[in-house]
Amino acid sequence: MENTTIKKTFSVVPSLNMGLFAPRDFQIILNIINKYNVPKTKITGAQRLALLGMDKDEIPKLQKELQGYVRPQVQNGVHYVQSCPGIKWCKYGIADSMALGEKIEKISLDEPLKAKVKVGIAGCRMCCTEPYVRDIGVFASKSGWSLIFGGNGGGNPRLGNIVAKNLSDDSIITLIKKCLTVYQAKAHPASRTARFMERFGIEALQQLVLNP
Ligand code: SF4
Repeated sequence: MENTTIKKTFSVVPSLNMGLFAPRDFQIILNIINKYNVPKTKITGAQRLALLGMDKDEIPKLQKELQGYVRPQVQNGVHYVQSCPGIKWCKYGIADSMALGEKIEKISLDEPLKAKVKVGIAGCRMCCTEPYVRDIGVFASKSGWSLIFGGNGGGNPRLGNIVAKNLSDDSIITLIKKCLTVYQAKAHPASRTARFMERFGIEALQQLVLNP
């Protein structure tokens, strides 16, 4: 293995709006990056912008300047939403995944979630944003949205379970809130949805969220 010099530095990872930003905003973000002499920048797998190698003391000032150009953290909401371009920007798209992502980003529960909840939304069945390995996964088909819950793509991967299919925009938001409410009430502290679903099971979850 190649020997590399390990340098202890700090990074800022602003959450972009599902990876989407206006070219004008990109220029402003770039000006801020240059102003602070950020040594290295990276678009992460989660469609976030990593500013690497920062001096710890500069981070608060930098974060303050970036406010307004990056997604503010929603209290008691999901960690991040990853969305594909969907019907507006992709020739294969059959539903507006970006618009649905904005609604999911705004979900706010009564209390903070027990662990990170990552969301992947795809505008067609090709599932480019890997919804089966996200805590909440959504993909579109001609008959509506499908909701997947309890996936994880980390060191202990798990394919999520399909909770329901053929959902409208409104009904999938309602169903996501219900799934998160059950997870919040029944999961062990700090347990990700994948570990929760291994223990709890899809039938038990469906019983609670699909029955009126
Ligand atoms: S999931 Fe479908 S709509 Fe989204 S980027 Fe991939 S091919 Fe396009």
